Amino acid sequence: MKILVVGGAGYIGSHTVRQLRAAGHTVVVLDNLSSGHPEALPGDVELVRADLLDAGAVKDTLIRTQPDAVIHFAALIEVGESMRAPARYYRNNVVGSLNLLQAIVDTRKIPLVFSSTAAVYGTTDAVPIPEDAAMQPESVYGETKLMTERMIHAFHTAHGLPYTILRYFNVCGASPAGDIGEAHANQTHLIELACLTALGQREKMMIFGEDYPTPDGTCVRDYVHVQDLADAHVLAVEALGAGRQDAATYNVGLGHGFSVKQVLDAVDAVTGTPLPREIAPRRAGDPPRLVADATKIVQELGFTPQFTDLQTIVQTAWDWHREHPHGFRK
Ligand code: UDP
Repeated sequence: MKILVVGGAGYIGSHTVRQLRAAGHTVVVLDNLSSGHPEALPGDVELVRADLLDAGAVKDTLIRTQPDAVIHFAALIEVGESMRAPARYYRNNVVGSLNLLQAIVDTRKIPLVFSSTAAVYGTTDAVPIPEDAAMQPESVYGETKLMTERMIHAFHTAHGLPYTILRYFNVCGASPAGDIGEAHANQTHLIELACLTALGQREKMMIFGEDYPTPDGTCVRDYVHVQDLADAHVLAVEALGAGRQDAATYNVGLGHGFSVKQVLDAVDAVTGTPLPREIAPRRAGDPPRLVADATKIVQELGFTPQFTDLQTIVQTAWDWHREHPHGFRK
């Protein structure tokens, strides 16, 4: 298949591009490079530098490249920033996605795989969380993803647009090849922060809350490895392309969780040095436990994650950060 990957130069996008190429697909990337890295892309992939807010450029790219499917990753992703700058998030994530959807149905009904998030559920009592759990996002970021999910569904109803939505849990790790990985200007994720702390770029690790109703008192999350997540996109786009899927939504996670302390213990074991840790107050909006019910994607798409061992997951992140302490910057 020929696949247009929107936001393909980012963290999850670039790992997906790699897995799509490995599966024999042709890839074109459209990215505004606001946070993506051209260095993360294979040399044989065309990069179109354009912004989803430029509706004309998006449509021109679809007409010129004639993809069989589109995978849409392009979004602003920082929860805290989304609360401070909501307009930027609604404009970029919702209006940008609307432009893409309109261009897709104006060109022809090109099947779409969309990057969504467990943040659409918000705080929920469900453990694990099934796809039909109530959705009450707590952040503007989560709201923009839910709004986009709803727009996609409306385009399916009105125009017959085939789609698959993937709701990611805690994405982490890096390609085992060691040459691409997470390189955000403003790191907020636990495993990445721990690796940067182990490299001496930060003083210590803060544990946000030790009094949660969980086995060791720290929050539990479902950590899914970025390469497994990339493989989930390959499965999803192939099923759509073959007409085996028409309108589906899947959680992507391992189906079991690890606590903050378990993650930090794994980082200590991998790096060989105990990180300085400090117990800090709870972080606003953190639910005690977020774990995917991932049975649907396993049963319907044959998703079989390879990275299920926490230490192996952390090892890939550590290998990337150790070799690239400043990300893609030299
Ligand atoms: N966390 C922490 N210290 C940090 C960063 C994160 O204790 O420096 C905790 C956070 O409160 C949450 C878990 O680690 O319980 C995962 O947070 P992350 O930001 O990686 O992902 P989120 O679950 O917010 O998407």
